[in-house]
Amino acid sequence: MFGAIEAGGTKFVCGVGTRPDDIQLSSFPTSSPDETIKKAVEFIREVAGARLTAVGIGSFGPIDLNRSSQTYGHITSTPKLPWRNYDFAGSVAHALGVPVAFDTDVNAAALAEGQWGAARDIDNFIYLTVGTGIGGGAIVNGSLVHGFVHPEMGHIRVPHDLSADPFVGVCPYHNDCLEGLASGTAITQRWGIRSNAIADDHQAWELEAHYLALALTNFIFTLSPERIVMGGGVMNRTLLFPKIREELRSLLNDYVTKLRDNIDEFVVPPALGNNSGVLGGILLAQEVCSTSQK
Ligand code: ZN
Repeated sequence: MFGAIEAGGTKFVCGVGTRPDDIQLSSFPTSSPDETIKKAVEFIREVAGARLTAVGIGSFGPIDLNRSSQTYGHITSTPKLPWRNYDFAGSVAHALGVPVAFDTDVNAAALAEGQWGAARDIDNFIYLTVGTGIGGGAIVNGSLVHGFVHPEMGHIRVPHDLSADPFVGVCPYHNDCLEGLASGTAITQRWGIRSNAIADDHQAWELEAHYLALALTNFIFTLSPERIVMGGGVMNRTLLFPKIREELRSLLNDYVTKLRDNIDEFVVPPALGNNSGVLGGILLAQEVCSTSQK
């Protein structure tokens, strides 16, 4: 029996189980680290009991994933001050006494979509979440990309035409990076309406699709993914998908000839709905369990 935690900036989703049709879930708002971790640990302990073998955490970031680092398993330079430098993996391991795997929320979601979801049997793909923030996980040649820290696809720069969109952006580090311009937080602040209350015919969606398609263009030219899975709260507005595909087709301008006719299957929603992240936690837990038994 495996435990999973998908830690988002606004919400925690916890799960206990083994696969999509065998998982019990619980979710609650993210508050202080001590209070939130206590709730997560209590849920996992209550459901799994003595059968718990490992826990996988997919966390918001940035996080330290370097196993030889003193601060492995910590959240690092987040703007959420109470969580800055918090020993996330260590706290959960200490409380539950089982091996704990730790990765980004989007890497976890990518794993689950690759195993059970919209990117099954695909060796090169990206999972991108567009919610309160923006993040991406990449599978390249069948493996997650970690690198120096971990990819931060939400913080790439996209062209920002200030005459068309004078909004300065909301990223506390870069102002008008992708997340600063196109996250749910940015949409809410730019238009003064919560993104889920904005009407379908509002110009907000054309602009949103424009920024996201610019970002996808950069990812396509850099990593050559065979599919891009787009989840997160903002992407629950499914009207974005045709707009993004249309804009992407125009930006690529037939340069990637393989994409000319199958862009509908190329940019897709997650097949696991909003559960990709927590199911990825189950896969991370399985992985740490098999490595610790070797
Ligand atoms: Zn940024």
